[in-house]
Amino acid sequence: MKILVVEDEEKAAEYLRQGLTESGYTVEIALNGTDGLHAAANGDHDLVILDVNLPGIDGFAVLSALRTSKQTPVLMLTARGKTDDKLRGFDLGADDYLAKPFEFPELLARVRALLKRGQPVAADSSLKFGDLEIDPVRHRATRQGQRIDLTAKEFALLTLLAQKAGEVLSRTQIASLVWDIHFDSDSNVVEVAIRRLRAKVDDPFTQKLIHTVRGVGYVREHRQSAQ
Ligand code: CA
Repeated sequence: MKILVVEDEEKAAEYLRQGLTESGYTVEIALNGTDGLHAAANGDHDLVILDVNLPGIDGFAVLSALRTSKQTPVLMLTARGKTDDKLRGFDLGADDYLAKPFEFPELLARVRALLKRGQPVAADSSLKFGDLEIDPVRHRATRQGQRIDLTAKEFALLTLLAQKAGEVLSRTQIASLVWDIHFDSDSNVVEVAIRRLRAKVDDPFTQKLIHTVRGVGYVREHRQSAQ
């Protein structure tokens, strides 16, 4: 998978190159809009990460010129809180948008989602875990064949826990991946959602799938009951 990063701040570009390379992607960097547009229009990238504030041709101009010839997925980066920029980006054909500064895991999650979007949907893309089955295409979760009614956020949360089965996820990670928010430690939005999810997914069943790692976060694992 080849990713083009168009970013004029060399430190930021290098940070992205390093993180994405470590995650297994091939990364090409362009340090200004002109080079970025040339590379994107003539290359065969699977994704373009495009900074908005670039000297010369800015990210919007690069995007609108690129869209006359190519539909490569574009993730735009810009300063936090600029809703107008976000709307303008989407109008011009951006596929996603991330405000700076961002946490790398959040960027990575969006990169993965965008790359997945371009792939044909597998015949059976459902996630299975013990007797729990999640069908991301139909937005449906079942346990022991019983349909579990979930809100969109609960479904996203369960899918995240399922995809990262066995990995401990912190509340901050969960909040940034599911709610797209960075909250202070006083917020209990994640605790509340986990409690609701457990009431639906775990409470009616003997085998519990969602576990709390005290002081750290949550993990989904299949624990064998004591013999
Ligand atoms: Ca910049």
